[in-house]
Parts: sequence; structure tokens; C-alpha cells
Amino acid sequence: MIPFLDLKGINAQYKAELIDVCTRVIESGWYIQGSECKEFEKEFANYCGSKFAIGVANGLEALILILRAYKELGFIRNGDEVIVPSNTYIASILAISENNLVPVLVEPDINTYLIDPLKIEEKITSKTKAILTVHLYGQICQMNKIKEIAKKYNLKVIEDSAQSHGAKFNNIKSGALGDASGFSFYPGKNLGALGDAGAVTTNNEELANTIRALGNYGSHKKYENLYKGINSRLDEIQAAMLKVKLKYLDEEIKRRRGIAKYYLDNIQNKNVILPKFKDESSHVWHVFAIRTSERENLQKYLTDNKIQTLIHYPIPPHKQVAYREWNSEIYPISEQIHSEILSLPISGIQSLEDTKYVVNVINNWKK
Ligand SMILES: *Cc1c(COP(=O)(O)O)cnc(C)c1O
Repeated sequence: MIPFLDLKGINAQYKAELIDVCTRVIESGWYIQGSECKEFEKEFANYCGSKFAIGVANGLEALILILRAYKELGFIRNGDEVIVPSNTYIASILAISENNLVPVLVEPDINTYLIDPLKIEEKITSKTKAILTVHLYGQICQMNKIKEIAKKYNLKVIEDSAQSHGAKFNNIKSGALGDASGFSFYPGKNLGALGDAGAVTTNNEELANTIRALGNYGSHKKYENLYKGINSRLDEIQAAMLKVKLKYLDEEIKRRRGIAKYYLDNIQNKNVILPKFKDESSHVWHVFAIRTSERENLQKYLTDNKIQTLIHYPIPPHKQVAYREWNSEIYPISEQIHSEILSLPISGIQSLEDTKYVVNVINNWKK
């Protein structure tokens, strides 16, 4: 079987180094909010080209804390609206709901699967306070157009960068393209910890300080609480392992681009639609998603041929039980994407032989 993502194999590349740093943390006797986290935050901010990075417990809480901080700073209030793409992973939307804010769904572009800037303005009201852009599958949204709209209506631009570590728009990296950005280091992401982890990046010092306090019981100083905060911190052991893996992130991205290019140059089947993107640097191929009207048929055929695929994602957010209030609404482009999309295996350790095999099998598929 060609696995969708061989996490064990990916981490095996760095096993000796990972064990070394884990031993260092174990022997330090210091497990939360120490030097490993501080150093990783500095290196990650540096990597993204942002002034600040704050380690948090996971990607969902990174997004939750950004919105919560804007509330504490008085920019957003309960009941305000946040624009978000209708075809995102549910976490982007949960972060809005969790803050007692209203997610306003905007349809994506059918070619890029990213929020369609042309459809944002019609959804803006006097309550709209932010646009949560999601760089889905690893591709950066049209940030120039989105930022123009945000400026016109005085909205914050928040990036969901959970899938786009290292992707660039006009030479600026994900994490430095908006007012604040939430990252996930879930093990399967392009930069993955060996457990849950996340970070927020921003150039805004006041926002960074507020987020840091909110993720630490609402406290800057031990036993003094400014806010009704939560506990969302990046463990020393995860920070230490992320520091190791950050050194190899660009290599991982390069290899993913090589596989994506091979797929794009060689998959030729009239029933398969290949992904479209702006330029090489704008996509880090967290997911290589193809589209076909016969998705179930193709997925079964690939499984029969020992190729594992996944669907990102099978149910659109507005059809989820958790959002039953939206269940009767219609988002035709999202619904089409969710019913036709299929993610092919891709990772920094996938061999050319396996990639060639996937291409051949797909090229021989008849629906
Ligand atoms: C993974 C992911 C998240 C959530 O990150 P976790 O670390 O799993 O909480 C949020 N948004 C998107 C787009 C994701 O892919």
C-alpha cells in the first residue's frame, strides 16, 4: 500500500536528533514555558518574517486566542461577524463560534478552492470585523485583493496558516501577510510536532502580549489575572522537537513541490481535474487535491490498486450537525468541491517510484 502520509517514516528521518533534544528536556527538569519554547518562538517568527510568535497548545486555540484578544482589546464584540470561506476545515469556523461571534460563509473560487475575493464585499455589514482567510491545501489566498477590502471597511485580516507554513505571496510568507496568523503543528501538517501544538504570529506587540496572557490563565505575572483566560501553552518537549523539524521545513516543501510538479506534468486523464495555482512559491502542497465527478469510483479504484487517498473534506461545514442552523442553506460551489475532491499521497519521503506508480494508475482509470 502507498500510504497517504507515513508519519513514522517522516519522523524517522530526524529520529536521532529528536531523541537528543527530548533527553535534553527530560534532564532539564523544566517542562512548560522555558527556554525551548522561547527559542522556538524566536526561530519561527524569524522564519515567517513576523515580529512575534507565541507558542500555544494547538491550531484551533491559536485562532480562538487571536479573536479573543481582539475582543479584550475592544476591537470586536459579542455578536460581531467574521468572514470565513464556506469550504474550510471546521476548526476555522469553530474558532469564530467559540468567541460568540457569527461566522459568515463566503464561497470559494472553483479553480483554486480558496475564498473568492469577489464574493466578500456583498457579505459585509456594519457588524463585520474581520476576514479569516484560510490558505487551504497550502496555497495562499489572493491577499492583495483581500487586504484592499479589509482596508476599505476597517477589518482585521486573520490568516489560518494551519496548512501553509512557508508558502509565500509576493515574497511575503504565510504568517506575515495579515494582522495575525494561527498555525497548527498537528503531526500531519507540513511542520508537525509529535503531538498537539500551535502558534500565533503577528507584528502587533499589544496583540501578542494579550494573546500570551490569555493563553496563560489571563496572566502576565504569576497569580495576577488580567483576563478570564485559558491554559493553552506549547510544551517544552514539543517546542524542542519543532526546533529540529523547522530546520528541515524548506527541504520538506521542496520535495513536496517536486512531487506536485510530477503529478501536474504527468497525470493525463480527461475525467480528472488537476489543481490550479498562481506560482510555485504560493503553494506548499499540504494537500494535493484532484477533482472528479466520479470521486467514490476513483477512490475505490485507487484503494484496489493499493493507493491510499483521503478526502479534505467529505462534509461541508454548513451541512454539519454542529451547525444545524445552516443545514438548509445552499453553497453550490462548496458542495461541488466537497463531493468531487480527492487528496493524493504526497510527502517529503515519497519516492519517485511511488509517485510514478500513482500517475500510471490514475492515467489508466476509466470511469
Ligand atoms: C489542522 C487545521 C486547524 C486546526 O489545527 P489543530 O492543531 O488540529 O487544532 C485549523 N485550520 C485548518 C485549516 C487546519 O487544517
